[in-house]
Amino acid sequence: MTQEDLFKKLIAHSKEYGFIFPSSEIYDGLSAVYDYGQLGVELKNNIKKYWWDAMVRLNENIVGIDAAIFMHPKVWEASGHVGAFNDPLIDNKDSKKRYRADVLIEDWLAKQDEKIAKEVEKARKRFGEAFDEAMFVETNPRVTELRKKRDEVNHRMVTALTDNNLAEVKTIIEDCGIVCPISGTKNWTEVRQFNLMFETKIGSVAEGAGTIYLRPETAQGIFVNFLNVQKTGRMKIPFGIAQIGKAFRNEIVARQFIFRMREFEQMEMQFFVHPGDEMKWYEHWKAFRMKWHKALGFGDDMYRFHDHEKLAHYANAAADIEFKFPFGFKEVEGIHSRTDFDLGNHQKFSGRKIQYFDPETSESFVPYVVETSIGVDRMVLQVLSAAYTEETLTKEDGSKDERVVLKIPAAIAPVKVAVLPLIKKDGLPEVAREIIDSLKFDYACQYDEKDSIGKRYRRQDAIGTPLCVTVDHQSLEDKSVTVRYRDTMAQKRVAIAELPALIEEEAGMKKLFKQILG
Ligand code: ATP
Repeated sequence: MTQEDLFKKLIAHSKEYGFIFPSSEIYDGLSAVYDYGQLGVELKNNIKKYWWDAMVRLNENIVGIDAAIFMHPKVWEASGHVGAFNDPLIDNKDSKKRYRADVLIEDWLAKQDEKIAKEVEKARKRFGEAFDEAMFVETNPRVTELRKKRDEVNHRMVTALTDNNLAEVKTIIEDCGIVCPISGTKNWTEVRQFNLMFETKIGSVAEGAGTIYLRPETAQGIFVNFLNVQKTGRMKIPFGIAQIGKAFRNEIVARQFIFRMREFEQMEMQFFVHPGDEMKWYEHWKAFRMKWHKALGFGDDMYRFHDHEKLAHYANAAADIEFKFPFGFKEVEGIHSRTDFDLGNHQKFSGRKIQYFDPETSESFVPYVVETSIGVDRMVLQVLSAAYTEETLTKEDGSKDERVVLKIPAAIAPVKVAVLPLIKKDGLPEVAREIIDSLKFDYACQYDEKDSIGKRYRRQDAIGTPLCVTVDHQSLEDKSVTVRYRDTMAQKRVAIAELPALIEEEAGMKKLFKQILG
């Protein structure tokens, strides 16, 4: 199955099983806006809990807030968003399709990387054991030529974007021979800047309504509350403030399902440090956040860091954590060293002193900030795309069977346990209900008595339930049940009384947290 097919199947599966629906679907949907269904919301909530507890509970010096989406419009002048939160856009005159000019070039760069990787693989096969990759990459004429061209284009793009030289961005697109994927032509418009913030009005028109923005990031709600939290929480630097909430961006090209949406959710943490300490904390948070991702168990090779060459207007260092989606390695999280840019500017624009007084040294200063910023929706997509698996099974009689299983890490699976009476009578449903009643305070459970047990297992596999508990006639005699594991399909007999400990061991979050701290 190609990665493209996999992605299509994943989107269809997400809808079919109640994870994600297009927004306002009965009106044909709204571009790049999605709704989470009954299972999607559980998965999303579990991801948020995993993040919140890892950040706020495991770190004594991090506290959380929940700021409003609407903010004073001056916030966005101070943050630089009114002036500079732009993406360069370009249209193809033949297909009338719109693209982000920088993304067209980045895709071209990724293609060159693929070509290089293919050359390396070919040579590896040819030379076998004796293959020296480093030497090959340095000396093979085709690879050195590809690398040279790639690096040149990358350098030109970074310089053009930093200098806001839009004419040069277009020239790069032309020089690379980039064509519109729809029309196949190079008939491009000029490159223009486009501000991504959504505007709306506050107050009635009669009173003189003012323009405000839907926040494009949650971070500013943290900055404007820095003093409130620091004073009321008696926080000592270094400390962090965490927040989960909606953000809105009028993305030029919103594709790839929930990867790029116009309304999405972020989990951000701003860590306030003494100026000069920021690089140490930047490295600390890079490592911590990578451990958080890897603890989910999708495989270390699914992640990589990408250090930014073109830094945002506020940053002195920045890296992305990228995940290998079906459409390639893409950003899920950013770790940014934001200097004192935000607090310093809010101090300037508000006229209020926003500083930290260090009682030990008696100095006052504007703290520096290291932030970690991750999209909840991109995490959902990461989990679903890594979890979606199609398996061919050989039955006892030798015939073949297919199953679709979502191998979602048990700790964040939407349903932890399905309790299934083998048949709908003889008191088995009652025992199943009793089991659910004893577990439901701690775990999301599902009861299912319809269809054969095999069909019920398949339904649970398809939504990623890690454990199925089957109640049969023996359960009435010795108070034991069969536990069936989603990934291995192995079954074992356990006492009903042992279920809470078994579920905690299999599907509790504690294991993940220990791994992060370990
Ligand atoms: P990109 O380069 O993909 O546009 P970004 O660098 O603008 O992302 P940040 O401003 O660093 O993203 O936002 C932090 C995180 O918020 C991203 O890593 C991503 O997970 C998430 N995010 C940003 N924009 C979107 C979006 N339009 N839809 C879904 N998630 C988003």
